[in-house]
Amino acid sequence: MGMPNLHQQYIDGEWTDSDGETFTSENPATGDTLGEFQRATTQEVNEAVAAADNAFEEWRSLSRIDRAEYLWDIYHELRDRHQELGEAVTRECGKEISEGKADVTEAWHMVEWAAGDARHPKGDVVPSEIPAKDAYMRRNPRGVTACITPWNFPVAIPFWHMAVALVEGNTVVWKPAEQTPLCGQIIAEMFDDIGVPDGVFNLLQGHGDAGAAMVEDDRVDTVLFTGSAEVGHQIAETVAADSSKRAACEMGGKNAVVVTDEADLDIAVHAAVMSSFKTTGQRCVSSERLVVHTDVYDEFKQRFVEVAERVAVGDPLDESTFMGPLVEDAHVEKVTSYNDLARTEAVDVLVDRTELPDEEIPDGHENGHWVGPFVYEADPDEPLRCTHEEVFGPHVALLEYEGDIERAVEIQNDTDYGLAGAIVSEDYRQINYYRDHAEVGLAYANLPCIGAEVQLPFGGVKKSGNGYPSAREVIEAVTDRTAWTVNNGEGIEMAQGLSADINTRDD
Ligand code: ADP
Repeated sequence: MGMPNLHQQYIDGEWTDSDGETFTSENPATGDTLGEFQRATTQEVNEAVAAADNAFEEWRSLSRIDRAEYLWDIYHELRDRHQELGEAVTRECGKEISEGKADVTEAWHMVEWAAGDARHPKGDVVPSEIPAKDAYMRRNPRGVTACITPWNFPVAIPFWHMAVALVEGNTVVWKPAEQTPLCGQIIAEMFDDIGVPDGVFNLLQGHGDAGAAMVEDDRVDTVLFTGSAEVGHQIAETVAADSSKRAACEMGGKNAVVVTDEADLDIAVHAAVMSSFKTTGQRCVSSERLVVHTDVYDEFKQRFVEVAERVAVGDPLDESTFMGPLVEDAHVEKVTSYNDLARTEAVDVLVDRTELPDEEIPDGHENGHWVGPFVYEADPDEPLRCTHEEVFGPHVALLEYEGDIERAVEIQNDTDYGLAGAIVSEDYRQINYYRDHAEVGLAYANLPCIGAEVQLPFGGVKKSGNGYPSAREVIEAVTDRTAWTVNNGEGIEMAQGLSADINTRDD
């Protein structure tokens, strides 16, 4: 048994004690401590990966349908503990409560998809040139899957990684973000409660060093990563050096909402506010650029600014809150420094709620990590850092454009990233141009550029990702395909006119 309130890690079907360091989880809205957690040592990473490696042969030998039965039990646990886990999400990462609960709902949708998929037809039956041959495609699990996840969707993203990986026959070593270990703890309790076979699911707690040790371990076959571009590229580079390993990484963006001269401005303002401020701008798909046509610019600006001045920042457990706190102090510093940078880059600041006045901060929340909306106008042709680098906060640029949709899409694409984007327009030709030319992995029309349903692929292009560690497309990352050709004929006959004769010296 560990010390009271000191949470353990879950390795090979056991709650284990560590003699390594510990760390605490903090409620970003109050500064209260939510729990103390053990920090995985290299030895524990080693043990967890060994457990997953040992469990693989037996787990893969079960039918997909039998493996899915375990996931159905998880599905019921997620539904039964919805309120508790949704509140834990909100307490630990500061998202307002409807978002905290939606995070859990999205997780059970993913589990439902993966477990339901176990009974669906799989693969292709493929014709052969040779009538006596049957050809088809089969998938095999790759083995040990390392899942490294961020704090902002602390329940949904882990299941984006793990649900399909497990149903397909892989075993898992998961490290949640260091900001949200309590959500990790509750999820591990669920796997323990349902009696998942030892070693099939392992939980390590800790920081980036544990993640890096997982990535480097030779027994890890696949790495699924969602998080920052810096770390994602480092992981992709490490994995690329070993040709038997595979990584699927999804990273951030500098996403834009394009508002054309043909936009319905009610939809435009609504979509822009949600894209920029939901989750306090801390979604990988949040929009920090609003690209607005000159004909509608003044009205859009006036209406957007009016809402940005008033959106309710406050206690995320209170249902009337729109924006909770930022996740941690270091992040307040980062967002504040980008707001300062924008001021020095000679932009026109329209809304500056970087430091909220005392009366806006709810009682008992004085130690929370509060930052309100920051909105400015900038020239889309200037190579400013504030309009090109990802801030990951409620920091938004209005970029005015003249001319046609080609010009708007040029501005949209003027970024190293390519995760999500939206266009607001009533003109289908504009939408079609955007559809064909916007460099994004997720596109939305007449909607905010946020939101993801698990039955769609989720991932980005350019610096935002390679591979899809998320939602249904994760199947490509966690399986290898075998193209089978089976001969039903009496002799051997080859395609492409290739001779099957064996000529000998006597012929
Ligand atoms: P964010 O900016 O969203 O916090 P990070 O990329 O820093 O994103 O973190 C996402 C996840 O990656 C976390 O679980 C974190 O601990 C882990 N991580 C951080 N550094 C590394 C690293 N060098 N190697 C592997 N994982 C890492």
